[in-house]
Amino acid sequence: MKIPNMIDAKKRHQETINYVEYESSLGKFGKGKKYYVRTYGCQMNEHDSEKIKGMLESAGFVSCDEMEDADVVILNTCAIRENAHDKVFGFLGVLKHIKDTTNPNLLVGICGCMAQEEVVVKEILNKYKYVDFVCGTHNLHNLLTIINNKIETNKQQIEVLSYEGDVTENVPVLRESKYSAWVDIIYGCDKFCTYCIVPYTRGTQRSRKKESIIEEVKELKKNGYKEVTLLGQNVNAYGKDLYDDYNLANLLSDVSDTGIERIRFVTSHPWDFTDEMVDIIASRDNIMPYIHLPLQSGSNRILKLMNRRYTKEDYLKLYDSIRSKVKNSSVTTDIIVGFPGETEEDFEDTLDVVKKCKFDGAFTFAFSPRENTPAALMKETVSEEVKMDRLHRLNEIVNKYSNEANKKLLNKTVKCLVTGVSEKDDSKVCGYTENMKLVNIEGDKSLIGEIVDVKITDTKSFSLDGKYIK
Ligand code: SAM
Ligand code: SF4
Repeated sequence: MKIPNMIDAKKRHQETINYVEYESSLGKFGKGKKYYVRTYGCQMNEHDSEKIKGMLESAGFVSCDEMEDADVVILNTCAIRENAHDKVFGFLGVLKHIKDTTNPNLLVGICGCMAQEEVVVKEILNKYKYVDFVCGTHNLHNLLTIINNKIETNKQQIEVLSYEGDVTENVPVLRESKYSAWVDIIYGCDKFCTYCIVPYTRGTQRSRKKESIIEEVKELKKNGYKEVTLLGQNVNAYGKDLYDDYNLANLLSDVSDTGIERIRFVTSHPWDFTDEMVDIIASRDNIMPYIHLPLQSGSNRILKLMNRRYTKEDYLKLYDSIRSKVKNSSVTTDIIVGFPGETEEDFEDTLDVVKKCKFDGAFTFAFSPRENTPAALMKETVSEEVKMDRLHRLNEIVNKYSNEANKKLLNKTVKCLVTGVSEKDDSKVCGYTENMKLVNIEGDKSLIGEIVDVKITDTKSFSLDGKYIK
């Protein structure tokens, strides 16, 4: 049994990262068994779930739609805020009920960021003995061994590394989409924003080698994929741990040269975003003009307390550079309200940046203290009531600008990658514009997988309606 240790997780252990190939000699031990995976959190978790499913299927497991029918249920968890925790622990109660009543042989496993938290694992050991296995983020590639050990020994398996593991290439992946694929380019994060648990749960910054990334994109293109999204907690730091002078701008240029039709990348950190990166995005038609650029706060005092390493002025300068150089670009952001010490004046500074940038959209959060992060030790000065009030005021303004940005598209013709049947209306299909706006499209299902022209016929706060134009 290996349980996590948050103090150790903060240390940066390895000077060099080992690059290893995935292997499993377990054969088809899951043959005849069914699995169900539930994912919480960000795109990185979504992509990790594709790997979890890929590994399970390589061992003979098949997926099922209802967890009641499963032999193995895996929760791929998120630790970013307290409510993510609450959701998982709430759901464990449902799984216990299934084990107690209809399916006593069900195996329940926890992967993802919560698995890396010492307090969570200790709680599982003490109170959730019916959880059969816990597998951390650094050793996800060992998942099959962990499940197999549980089956063979019938003992609870807890395998979590508190130091960053290797970069494992060629883990089997079962991709959700046949047209749009996630491609990891960098794991972990070394920024240590004071509110954030990611550097503890995902370990040090580790870039994948450029050759592996470019090869993966070429292979995806060959298999008919139209779009790749390059993934990392801070993609702009790509290469810093590996190369002297090869960076995200160079990688974007090389990925663009593969000829794949659409390239996206998330998430960007303003501090690592260079002019060279803006220029390459501006100069290539297949790099999408959409940037998610978390602001977090518009107050210099709070940005400093957050250890974000940029000022309001730096952010606005970068924002202006992106908007002026990248044609038809749109920018979205993340904002936290109620950070310890945030005054009304600090909050007004955030509103000021929002009003200046008129973001296309924003994910807004109330500060949630996370175990062992520096901000969790700061005195909380903003009451829940004030946090909610600020969140509400912020959301009103964010939604107003998001609506305005969408309205500008009315009657315009935009290019959409059609990704599937519309969730709102199954007689329609849906897709994403170059600026990452969701469009419900009047059009035939044969369009799925194509990049087509769509005329925008109506706009809402969070989506658009449109009609396919031949
Ligand atoms: N790596 C990205 C970045 O640098 O912005 C995203 C990290 S996190 C998955 C997504 C967002 O969650 C952050 O941008 C931040 O706004 C929010 N977040 C992170 N920790 C938080 C906390 N303790 N309380 C509230 N929001 C938080
Ligand atoms: Fe967390 Fe900051 Fe790293 Fe983003 S850059 S993952 S917010 S520590």
